[in-house]
Amino acid sequence: MPKTMKYGIILFLFSFSVILPSPAQDRMPTRVIPVQYMDPVFIPEYLSAGSAVNLDNPAAYLYPEWSNAYVHKFETVTIPDTVVISMSGYCMPTDSTRITDTYGYRPRRGRMHLGIDIKVRIGDTIRAAFDGKVRISRYERRGYGHYLVIRHPNGLETVYGHLSKKLVNEDDIVRAGDPIGLGGNSGRSTGSHLHFETRILGNAINPALLFDFPGQKAVTDLYLYTKDNREIYYKVRSGDTLTRIAMRNSISLSNLCRLNGISQNAIIRVGQTLRVN
Ligand SMILES: [Zn+2]
Repeated sequence: MPKTMKYGIILFLFSFSVILPSPAQDRMPTRVIPVQYMDPVFIPEYLSAGSAVNLDNPAAYLYPEWSNAYVHKFETVTIPDTVVISMSGYCMPTDSTRITDTYGYRPRRGRMHLGIDIKVRIGDTIRAAFDGKVRISRYERRGYGHYLVIRHPNGLETVYGHLSKKLVNEDDIVRAGDPIGLGGNSGRSTGSHLHFETRILGNAINPALLFDFPGQKAVTDLYLYTKDNREIYYKVRSGDTLTRIAMRNSISLSNLCRLNGISQNAIIRVGQTLRVN
């Protein structure tokens, strides 16, 4: 399809953002979206006319199964070219406006920081970002500490780390704004804060593209997760070289180095994470 047509469709879609129903307030959309114009765009079922939101198995249109087993491995899943993520009905997970660490690559540790850190005090209320179902409620001593993963009908999974206490259990259904935990300093953490991640099919999205913590509001009504803006990461295996990683991931060596802020002679370690898209 020509690029202009694609953008036309995307613009068309955005023009509906003001009338799309909010899942929190109005669960039965009243306006029929003309599907023939939206064929190339993956349409979440809950945005389609007449479908009820299913909180027993949220975003079943996207995820192959409901499982409490893992945080972010969906290796057998093919991601649709475009996923429309609606921020409708969101709630800020904390009223804190202070970001203490941003999303991105940490050269010193050779890995990504796949969420953002927001300053909270021990005991501060942490709230569900959207309606959803708790997929994981667990403790990880060396990592997230006490943490929760919630899956939402809009396709996102949100992760809340370093809590001092979890207030919900696996398979609990929650509503946007429900208290789900208390702020803390558990796991690998220095100073109490909320480590907050937004993922889709296990792939991290910079939460700052969706949630404006300093402004305490959503950044956008609809976020388009597309092939072009998708961040993909690769974990270095034994015997890998930068050239081999570039070839395996269909990316040029220079692009690989640019994405990761490293030189072509950089030494890589097994287990290190590199961005490949
Ligand atoms: Zn963090």
